[in-house]
Amino acid sequence: MNIHQPGADLTPADDTDRPYWDPRLETQSRAEWDAMKLGLLKQHMRHAYDNSPYYRQSFDAAGVGPDDVTSLSDLAKFPTIQKSILRERQEAAPLLGDLAAVPEEKVVYVSASSGSTGVPTISPFTAEDFDEWMDFEARLFWSSGLRPKDRYAHSLNFSLFVGGPCVLGAQKIGALSIHAGTVPSDRLLSILKTFQATAMWTTPSYAWYLGETALKEGIDPRTDLAIDKIFVAGEPGGSIPETRKRIEDLWGAEVFDYYGLSDVFGACAGMCEAKDGLHWAEDHIHVEVIDPETGEPVPPGGRGEMVLTTLKKRARPLIRFRTGDIVSFTEETCSCGRTSQRLMGVHGRLDDMLVIRGVNIFPSDVEAIIRKDHDFTGEYRLVVERVNHLDTLTVEAEKIHGFNGTDDDLAKRLKDQIKAITGVGVQVAILEADALPRATHKAKRVEDRRDQVWTA
Ligand SMILES: [Zn+2]
Repeated sequence: MNIHQPGADLTPADDTDRPYWDPRLETQSRAEWDAMKLGLLKQHMRHAYDNSPYYRQSFDAAGVGPDDVTSLSDLAKFPTIQKSILRERQEAAPLLGDLAAVPEEKVVYVSASSGSTGVPTISPFTAEDFDEWMDFEARLFWSSGLRPKDRYAHSLNFSLFVGGPCVLGAQKIGALSIHAGTVPSDRLLSILKTFQATAMWTTPSYAWYLGETALKEGIDPRTDLAIDKIFVAGEPGGSIPETRKRIEDLWGAEVFDYYGLSDVFGACAGMCEAKDGLHWAEDHIHVEVIDPETGEPVPPGGRGEMVLTTLKKRARPLIRFRTGDIVSFTEETCSCGRTSQRLMGVHGRLDDMLVIRGVNIFPSDVEAIIRKDHDFTGEYRLVVERVNHLDTLTVEAEKIHGFNGTDDDLAKRLKDQIKAITGVGVQVAILEADALPRATHKAKRVEDRRDQVWTA
């Protein structure tokens, strides 16, 4: 059998049956992973300290240095950074900011994201950074079953958006890659039909919307199109089994959740065919899960804020980057035989976390409940208000066309389920099908009206 070595040319026709892209790496023991990562981390911290003015100053100020890293847990001694620091340091030292650790001549690619303030933050890559990224994108795609025989439609733009280049990971596998870009739905459907594409990448909301749009236009995604794999990213829905199931039923395809981050990599993790969590690109990014309030590590398997440290990215190391995403991880070996850590769910953004009378609740918690119940269309919105100084959460959910029960019974059923699972008492408003706006990109699920406080 022709075993692929990272960086080596792949001859796909020879070994498309092999289960792993990189067998030695993907099935190594936990001790081997940790030893490998510690070696990479030591080098990377040295690189950051020696070459990035920001890290030198920040480590010195905290009284720590690269030699203080003797175990992975030593990383906790180092200061964290967040998006606002990336923005500030970039403005202070344009173009790349002083977190960059290579001269601009070494940079061959940048992604950028505008974020909420509208000022784009730039994420640079050297040629080696970019090649290694595409190798692990290919590894993730391979784990989801993408093969050279596939026709992969990439409906993301090859622009400054970090998701764009991921199409090259599919190309590296040898799949026929269709650079569809972001085009109107009717055009995308026509591309999928003409090319008889077998795989595509989009957001979960858009996959749902596109499937429904196809049906309205007389195209049955199950029979008229050839899509059998849908990669989704950008929203929690892809890791909520009920949401995934609804999209899978609509398309007659398998849905694989992927996770990426604009300032890191287009995809940092993806679901294998077992679809039990997302395999993390652990040889490139080290993860800590912390309590967002105290900064203390959360016990394995627990929910907390994800903090990321790159292990190889030369152009701009990210050391302890606070993502604002609330996640949980496992280190148990997956049934597919891969041993990497798995991201078991992005439960929400810290920004999306609602605290209703002291109880934390995420839109994804409510989504899982609504999408299990087939009397709902699956579209919903959470409206938070402050009434008589008390926070009130109203869940607006659409009933299906032709629902033949009473709205009161349906509302009560949903209310009871939400209370049982989250512990939060909510109001429920039953809406007609299609009453809520459909998202073509990221769905806005929360409307927080608590700043519009009415006082007597
Ligand atoms: Zn797996």
